[in-house]
Amino acid sequence: MIKVLKFGGTSVGSAENMRKVAAIIRNEKARLTVLSAMSGTTDALVRISVLAGQRAGTEIREVLQTLKEKYETCIADLLGEHAEVARKKTEATFSLIENECAGFQPGKSDKVILAQGELLTSYIFTLYLKEIGLRAILLNAPDFMCTDAAHKPEREKLKNRLSPLVREPETFYVTQGFICTDCEGNLDNLGRGGSDYSAALMGEAIGANEVQIWTDIDGMHNNDPRYVDKTFPIRHMSFDEAAELAYFGAKILHPATIQPCKDHGIPVRLKNTMDARAEGTLITSSGEATSDFCAVAAKDNITVIRIYSTRMLMAYGFLRMVFEIFERHKTSIDMITTSEVAISLTVDNEEHLEEIERELAALGTIEVEKDNTIVCVVGRMDHTQHGLVAKVLNCIQNIPVKMISYGASHRSLVLLIGTKAKVEALQNLNRGLFNL
Ligand code: ASP
Ligand code: MG
Repeated sequence: MIKVLKFGGTSVGSAENMRKVAAIIRNEKARLTVLSAMSGTTDALVRISVLAGQRAGTEIREVLQTLKEKYETCIADLLGEHAEVARKKTEATFSLIENECAGFQPGKSDKVILAQGELLTSYIFTLYLKEIGLRAILLNAPDFMCTDAAHKPEREKLKNRLSPLVREPETFYVTQGFICTDCEGNLDNLGRGGSDYSAALMGEAIGANEVQIWTDIDGMHNNDPRYVDKTFPIRHMSFDEAAELAYFGAKILHPATIQPCKDHGIPVRLKNTMDARAEGTLITSSGEATSDFCAVAAKDNITVIRIYSTRMLMAYGFLRMVFEIFERHKTSIDMITTSEVAISLTVDNEEHLEEIERELAALGTIEVEKDNTIVCVVGRMDHTQHGLVAKVLNCIQNIPVKMISYGASHRSLVLLIGTKAKVEALQNLNRGLFNL
């Protein structure tokens, strides 16, 4: 059985946790271990890149110093005979970051700086595996994880390059999540939180039988534990349900992760590094929810755009004109509802909002409203059954609902509310749908 195991930032966030990770991969006989950077690293590196763009030397040194100490403390606690090599690598990494800051090239240096977290973390961890007597080999992800001109991963190339590298049995291969090479051969990344996606793509590439995503919570919960007291882990769910929850806010999984595994029917298991014996969540193609309601998730920072136009009345081709504007500005639409003379749609990316608004104004009257939250209820939404929608809306009677999307799939009901009402909505849904 070939397994790919991915560990998030908290899982490798200290020497103590790295020891836990080593025990887990040994126990699971992981073929390939994909690591994020130690917790807090990527945030700090983003900050450093921003400061480098502003030439804020003193502040850069402060952030770098704190970050470096974190790695030095980890090395001192984790390593014995390999500590010196790890210290040298840390020195070299931090001088490289300083050099990138000094000659900062926007769009290039930031990518190099961001990659250092995963590179250093995986380097230190591999040394630890060697120190405890395991046969461990560190692989450089940008050698095989590449993206094309549209920033999409090159899955064939990954397969051809990675599979021959991970053939030896009883060997622990370690590599970096998140980072890649772009179509021009420069260091790049798959976007924040992208190491889950790396693991899924690598699992697909090497024909894995299972991909495991290890975090610090025991699986996907029925609701957001940050806002709701009583939540429980879902034992088994389908790829489609998991994708919907990940896309609409469940933080445990990067939304792109599911696709490669779904394409090949590779089960994805979500597990807890801090409690390895907890069952976690198993995601497979057959794991359809057995109850009407499976889980609730929420996604913030949603902007609604409403377009009123009498030109829409009895006309055809109007929606196409609207969608083309979003397409031109590479902005994807999450939710949409239409009436005879109006369309409401939501976006989570405001980068091109001004241009979009300007172009839409030629089609009708535009209204833009920020600070909204999408609440997604996932479950078995059988369209021949009655009472499901009523049950959901009943739970949130006191909360103004701005948009409703139901019927697009057999597994979700999606609502748009003001962000201020989010916590109350999640709590009420927990009580009303799960009797908690
Ligand atoms: N280290 C990266 C981030 O914090 C990638 C990841 O953890 O998935 O976004
Ligand atoms: Mg993550």
